[in-house]
Amino acid sequence: MPAAPVLGGEFIRSEQRIVMAATATPSPSALRVGVLTETEEGEHRVALDPGAVAKLVKAGRTVHIESGAGEAASFTDEAYTTAGATIQTRASILKHSQVIAVVRTPDDKLVAALTKDQAVVGLLNPLNRPDMIRELTKRGVTTIAFEFVPRTLSRAQSMDALSSQSSAAGYRAAIVAAYVFGRYLPMMITASGTATPAKVIVIGAGVAGLQAIATARRLGAVVTGYDIRDASRQEVESLGAKFLTSSVAKGSAAGGYARVMTDNEKATQQKELDDALADFDVIITTAKVPGHAPPELVSAATLKTLRAGSVCIDLGSSSLGGNVAGSAEGKTTVTKGGVTLVGGGELAADLPASASQMYARNVVAVLDSLAPEGEIVIDPTDEVHQGIVVGHDGEVTNAAMRKVLKLDALPDATKVSAPTADAPKADAPASNAPTSSVPDDTTKKAA
Ligand code: NAD
Repeated sequence: MPAAPVLGGEFIRSEQRIVMAATATPSPSALRVGVLTETEEGEHRVALDPGAVAKLVKAGRTVHIESGAGEAASFTDEAYTTAGATIQTRASILKHSQVIAVVRTPDDKLVAALTKDQAVVGLLNPLNRPDMIRELTKRGVTTIAFEFVPRTLSRAQSMDALSSQSSAAGYRAAIVAAYVFGRYLPMMITASGTATPAKVIVIGAGVAGLQAIATARRLGAVVTGYDIRDASRQEVESLGAKFLTSSVAKGSAAGGYARVMTDNEKATQQKELDDALADFDVIITTAKVPGHAPPELVSAATLKTLRAGSVCIDLGSSSLGGNVAGSAEGKTTVTKGGVTLVGGGELAADLPASASQMYARNVVAVLDSLAPEGEIVIDPTDEVHQGIVVGHDGEVTNAAMRKVLKLDALPDATKVSAPTADAPKADAPASNAPTSSVPDDTTKKAA
């Protein structure tokens, strides 16, 4: 039987890619980019997908991929080779790459392996890992963190990995909720009777929350959104969902993020949520405050008021705590009252192919901005560079990070609309807090 035309077409296209890859000769100054297998448990994403590799190779970069790095996201070594990458061992990549692209915060082994004049780009979690930033900067490693992309700047939007990953997580949250919930989400009118639609509330209507609202609506649920930022009402309602009004007004801080609530506001908020939540079948929480522990919005007392079979998906869950009492990052548990809690702080990792594909585009955009001609060149007057470059050439350059590390502001530091530069948080656990509030001599000198 002749091969189906679609397969023939694919084959020709992949042959063309091989030719492209073979003819792309990196210039002597080509940027060497390395991608390692992610080591965090449950992490299935990879920093570059084959499509992004092809783009980088076409632009004259050299890309090294650790063997098997894309496997959990369904990207084979062969697909990377076809796109023009070379498959190498971890040790070889660490030795030969100028830039290491990662998804999650480097583990201790990787931190120790990075050397002077190398750069690492990823979701480095800098506000919660100032110790790591200080250590890498001290050793001359350039740190580039997606958390500091100035998100409201339109030319930086292609670099916004917080948004691309939040969007994947929000979508996945609604899908997981539908899967875990033992009833229909939509209204079902059948010969055997009618099922009423499930009631879903999404607490925190940022990027993840809005995507969760849109997805739950598509699945037929009756959806309500809740947030403390004034702008969120309109966004929730534009998706056809109801809005649960918060009596906590003006909850926005710099850059459009939520601010930390006062104790009085927390109590008011807790009361209004306690009163409202018992009516819902599914609660999806996404509330985060950059650099701080996420606020607990669904208390143990509230959980007792929920019907058996209800589901809470906690996208806020992390090592710093979560939005739902008792939820544990990466774990699914069931309360005595029969409520399922899903700790989904990294739920984008469970949509690995799509999440990686979007993330890889963010990585390519960052490299295009920092290294348009081959080598990395940081422009201290560029607002994007001021944000994403946390430390460079032995000096912590990001203004927010300097504040966390208690370093004086640089003379020409310009404000960027990145997460707030609060002092180290009192609510962060000791393990993640800076080991010392006094920077070591090398960093201080660099300041
Ligand atoms: P986030 O992940 O930091 O937080 C998620 C949501 O939780 C936010 O909407 C926040 O207001 C909410 N929240 C925090 N504490 C809360 C509490 N106690 N009670 C209820 N809700 C609470 O936020 P995000 O999704 O990254 O978005 C942050 C902001 O950045 C939003 O205003 C978003 O619209 C904006 N943004 C703008 C752009 C752009 O202009 N291109 C891109 C991305 C995000």
